[in-house]
Amino acid sequence: MSSSVPASASDSYRHRGQRRTLVEELRRKGIRDERVLATIGTVPRHLFFEQAFESHAYQDKAFPIGEGQTISQPYTVAHQTELLGVRPGLRVLEVGTGSGYQCSVLLTLGLQVFSIEYNRVLFERTRQRMAQLGYTGAHLFCGDGSLGLPAYAPFDRILVTAAAPALPRPLLQQLAIGGVLVVPVGNEQVQRMVRITRESADGFAREEFDEFRFVPLRGAAGWAE
Ligand code: SAM
Repeated sequence: MSSSVPASASDSYRHRGQRRTLVEELRRKGIRDERVLATIGTVPRHLFFEQAFESHAYQDKAFPIGEGQTISQPYTVAHQTELLGVRPGLRVLEVGTGSGYQCSVLLTLGLQVFSIEYNRVLFERTRQRMAQLGYTGAHLFCGDGSLGLPAYAPFDRILVTAAAPALPRPLLQQLAIGGVLVVPVGNEQVQRMVRITRESADGFAREEFDEFRFVPLRGAAGWAE
């Protein structure tokens, strides 16, 4: 995936200006990783939106994407990506494909992306959208991502974009040695961002960051519906 906007996308001078303003806002809010900021500056977030909300795409806010789900706030996308500590070629699993925006950010950063979405309607819609936009190359799955993707493990990085009640054990097991898991953990109202680094087969280091509000992670290692 190239770092520029795909040729098929409808992107304008105005959108590019709005992205530059958003990047400056994220910088002021504490995002330091220049590659992450540059990527937020190139991926056309408005093309991952429902048309009714498109004009709000460059606000630093989460918005509805249908099916009771949301596209994460740009700050959250940037913060989680920064915490992952990515570099080209790493294998990353994203749990919660949603709109495909975060997935496209990871592709643009040069990762080998595996992404899984629980909701079939969103999965089908996003698969089509990403193909139309030219964000190809991600391995997209529909299913319970709280169980990870054991057939494709181990992963160098795992990113969970929904709120988990506790650390999902299957995801810990699917981390490579030296691998990093970023996941919001808490109750259904508020969660703390947690970063786990697998230091050895059974050694995991835990760090905690700020509080966030995510939609719930469903499935076997998530919240019951
Ligand atoms: N990363 C997304 C984006 O860039 O638009 C934002 C995702 S939204 C905040 C969280 C997503 O996680 C929703 O689409 C929801 O359906 C999905 N989800 C919830 N539980 C899941 C599970 N067990 N496996 C996979 N996806 C799940």
